[in-house]
Amino acid sequence: MNPVEIYKILPKTNCGRCPQKTCMAFALSLLKGEVKADACPELSEHARQELSKIEIKDWKAELIEKLQKEIQEIDLSEVAEGIGAELRDGNLIIRCFGTDYTVAPDGEITTSGHINPWIKILLLHYIRTAGKGEFSGRWVSFSELKSGMVKEASFRRDCEEPLRELLDKHFPVVERMLLALGATPTKHEASKYAWQLKALPKLPVLILYWPEEDGEPSALKILFDSTADRFLDVESIIFVLEGLINIIEHALSAHNH
Ligand code: SF4
Repeated sequence: MNPVEIYKILPKTNCGRCPQKTCMAFALSLLKGEVKADACPELSEHARQELSKIEIKDWKAELIEKLQKEIQEIDLSEVAEGIGAELRDGNLIIRCFGTDYTVAPDGEITTSGHINPWIKILLLHYIRTAGKGEFSGRWVSFSELKSGMVKEASFRRDCEEPLRELLDKHFPVVERMLLALGATPTKHEASKYAWQLKALPKLPVLILYWPEEDGEPSALKILFDSTADRFLDVESIIFVLEGLINIIEHALSAHNH
């Protein structure tokens, strides 16, 4: 069973009563065995029974293995330039959120920084997509990317809203974290705060944030170079931003303890 199948069994209301706060995050934690179904107080008896049948598998490890096999079929020297990676001794060096990762021809990934399954999946997907092309310099919203309209609501719910809430509650700490992940503050005529961040060499993101002011609620928008969908599909782009939010949340909880 994968996270989406589990998500379908959950109430899908994102009521925020579980520690994960959203049903998709809860589904992921459930699959990893980090949480029990009982932690969702909104579950119906039927859903509880369905979830009790789930065999908890390490889906990330399975996915990484599958992607690594696909990478082994790719000539890394042919994709390096297109995806903005450096080719060194037959390996790809890819910068992701300010850290360099080395990807070997067999798909193994090493770094002197932090690594986790999320980063591995992201990097392997990025290589497999083998995008090409220069930046257009034109920032567009998620819905303007290929198939972005279909996933726009998920993007807003799982990426823009959680990041807005984090900035609302912990602005100085979250901004420091964004800077530590390679973001640079920038000026934007429309918003009070703006940061540009390279999630991956060919995936720059522009985060625009308007804090609550004069009774106006806060707002946040994440923009992409219009070429972003050549380098990752929209589901993977959501995955990138969810990962960023997870990094910030983990760092925040460590900071608070
Ligand atoms: S408590 Fe249940 S319904 Fe509410 S967000 Fe968590 S998983 Fe979803």
